[in-house]
Amino acid sequence: MFNPPNTVLFVSAGLLGPKKRDHALARRQLYLNYGALTLATALSHSGHPARLIHGGHDDPADFLERLTREGMLPCRGPLMLSLPSFYALGWTKEFCRRFRSAYPDVHIVAGGRWVTGPDPEWLRRHVPELNEICTGLGEADIGRLAGARLVYPPAALPGFALDHRLVDGFQQYQPSIEASRGCGMGCAFCEERDVPLTRLREAADLTRMIGDVSSQYGHGEIRPYLQSSYFLPNVRWAGRMREEMSSRGLRVHWRCETRVDSIKPATIAHLAAAGLKVIDLGLETASPRQIAAMNKSVDVDRYLRSASDLLRACERHGVWVKCNVLLYAGETASTVQETQAWLDQHATAIKGVSVGPVIVFGPPRQAAPLLEDLGLRGARPVDSASAERSGVSAMHLSNEIGAGEAEALSLQLSRRYMDAGDYFDLKGFSYYPRGFTRAAFDADVAASDPSQLPFRQEQISLRH
Ligand code: SF4
Repeated sequence: MFNPPNTVLFVSAGLLGPKKRDHALARRQLYLNYGALTLATALSHSGHPARLIHGGHDDPADFLERLTREGMLPCRGPLMLSLPSFYALGWTKEFCRRFRSAYPDVHIVAGGRWVTGPDPEWLRRHVPELNEICTGLGEADIGRLAGARLVYPPAALPGFALDHRLVDGFQQYQPSIEASRGCGMGCAFCEERDVPLTRLREAADLTRMIGDVSSQYGHGEIRPYLQSSYFLPNVRWAGRMREEMSSRGLRVHWRCETRVDSIKPATIAHLAAAGLKVIDLGLETASPRQIAAMNKSVDVDRYLRSASDLLRACERHGVWVKCNVLLYAGETASTVQETQAWLDQHATAIKGVSVGPVIVFGPPRQAAPLLEDLGLRGARPVDSASAERSGVSAMHLSNEIGAGEAEALSLQLSRRYMDAGDYFDLKGFSYYPRGFTRAAFDADVAASDPSQLPFRQEQISLRH
């Protein structure tokens, strides 16, 4: 790869191991760091060459050697290192230690606001090689940090489509298009709980960006993720998107994420016609007590009724639903049973589930309030030193359900609703490298420890 000498290099920190369970399939997953790509695109559009390369699951030493071998290092300006989650801390420490010894004069600027924002001093203690820590979104600072003049002033949402061609190996990655930011719905466990929701991007604007991204990929098949923590179109907006997609002749399937209680069934009809194929729904639980504990909704009946209506609408319109389920503080066999019974009733509308126990993210200063709240509900950290050590605190959920039982329940519930084909369809839609085949998937399954896989391999189904 050729890089002009003044290229600003962004590195998205990788992982020493997969976030959940370690098996061959988990290591296939690609996560596009669209926050870092937003900054790289802003620079590039302003006439400053930029590149983004992902650490992925590469060993930090091998990754550094590759950057050097391929001429990306040494870079002239600072290295922009983005930490997408606390899980990237171990990789970051190792990479920065090696980087500093190889390039003592190159500054490292760390970004990734969920990790850098809560307690920069904690991060600096863990990664003393960092020269600067950028705690906010980065869009206001990137011009100064890169020594560049931006022609795109910071806005609530960038006015340009991300330029995926700036990503090393971009053809492997499914693209992202940011539709809105923030949420503010107050769920106790969520980092977005107090971040206000921005206006949804105009349908015409979003559709134009889908077209732009499609041409970046030479009009080959793409499945963009419309990035929003809380995708909230109304029926008029959805109708406009349907018209825009049709009038531009765009036949692109896409994916989004939202709550279960906000989008109306009539909106789903338009969205499906506009290309919506997969929707990630934050159901979290169907237990009234747990809905209240999470502060998910004050009206449990309405919450579950709306969820039911939404799932049925998705089923009618051929939209695959992936339900996120969160095992929470105070969970018991009976609350899990309530959730399972609800999921069973909707099994025909569910393509897959993602189940896991609540995890508290952040260094002690950030983690303390949530740890306290969870503690009042009967949970406790598996290791009280882990917030300081890693910024990730796994939890025993209650006296009845410890961390080990929570993991077993997560696998059991996942397998109840998902077989290998469902899992392949959902992961293949967004997270596996583009063009990843079912044969390659099956080979990975064969090479994996079956006890770690979150889907069943036989074809028994609840969908009758
Ligand atoms: S609705 Fe989703 S994004 Fe919003 S606060 Fe709740 S969990 Fe977070």
